[in-house]
Amino acid sequence: MSLIPRASNVRPGDKFDTIIVGLGPAAYSAALYAARYMLKTLVIGETPGGQLTEAGEVDDYLGLIGVQASEMIKLFNAHVEKYSVPILMDRVESFKREGEEYIVKTKRKGEYRASTIIVAVGTKRRKLNVPGENEFLGRGVSYCSVCDAPLFKNRPVVVVGGGNSALDGAELLSRYATKVYLVHRREEFRAQPIIVKLVKEKPNVEFILNSRVKEIRGDKLVRKVVVENLKTGEVREIEANGIFVEIGFEPPKDFAEVNDLETDEQGYIKVDEWTRTNLPGVFAAGDCTNMWIGFRQVATSTAMGAVAAHSAYNYLNERKGFRG
Ligand code: NAP
Repeated sequence: MSLIPRASNVRPGDKFDTIIVGLGPAAYSAALYAARYMLKTLVIGETPGGQLTEAGEVDDYLGLIGVQASEMIKLFNAHVEKYSVPILMDRVESFKREGEEYIVKTKRKGEYRASTIIVAVGTKRRKLNVPGENEFLGRGVSYCSVCDAPLFKNRPVVVVGGGNSALDGAELLSRYATKVYLVHRREEFRAQPIIVKLVKEKPNVEFILNSRVKEIRGDKLVRKVVVENLKTGEVREIEANGIFVEIGFEPPKDFAEVNDLETDEQGYIKVDEWTRTNLPGVFAAGDCTNMWIGFRQVATSTAMGAVAAHSAYNYLNERKGFRG
């Protein structure tokens, strides 16, 4: 199974029934279903797997028991490849409607035309916005426990957040680091109870609750994380060489704005139960949408991708002239 997508027969200016924007689970699923509906399909994205590239073992996708995320991405890719769907490694900057079609502009390869679009662009990592965060990026500040945990073998680290990412990260890091400080701004967790229980049982994890990170200090590398208790105002300096910021994701506001996609107040693309956006023939799926916020799973993303392809197919069928 190769992970090098092929789009050798695709030329700028080519016309497609649907262009899928993104390359995460929602996009792969949309591509599979679009291919099975025999739509002329092009996928445009930059990172095969999207956020799944930052996951470790996945054990909540039915039928794939304890699969590594990297293996899952290979399987998704192989499944789409089986249907010869071209995947263009590029970034969609914008799309605009001209008559009955959309002109999709990419960053590097040019413009492509499509009757429908499926937006599956995912989300971006949220930042703490505290002093030292940008300065020590890659020198102790990380946004991906799964990617960087082994680098912190036998060192103390801080993990920030109270969701699944932070708790998964703390669990993984507890196997490498001498000590893990889990800093969370509340006492309650968004993470699934099973993982909270697991982390609480780890002898080298200390929970620092009702607290926020004020500053990250160091020299060449991170040395200290300054934490403030939000209830007492007490400030504590934690000796740590790494800080993993796992505090969730931001919606793709700019992408939505540029393309006149209607969003909710947070900036997630508004869709109905059939993944329809405010634009005719434009559908959206996965984490970038306002559907199922707070329950982002591979299963929910792939489900939405499938629905989006189905909706694109119905939209095209309802239009005169589709397929002659
Ligand atoms: P999340 O669920 O949105 O949780 C973010 C956490 O960070 C929350 O605890 C939040 O605190 C905290 N936070 C947000 N902004 C903050 C700030 N500025 N400063 C300090 N703390 C801040 O994000 P996530 O854990 O990355 O998960 C994202 C989605 O992916 C979720 O739907 C999650 O279920 C899913 N996911 C699933 C799995 C899995 O199923 N194994 C693994 C990873 C992620 P509050 O709680 O106080 O708001």
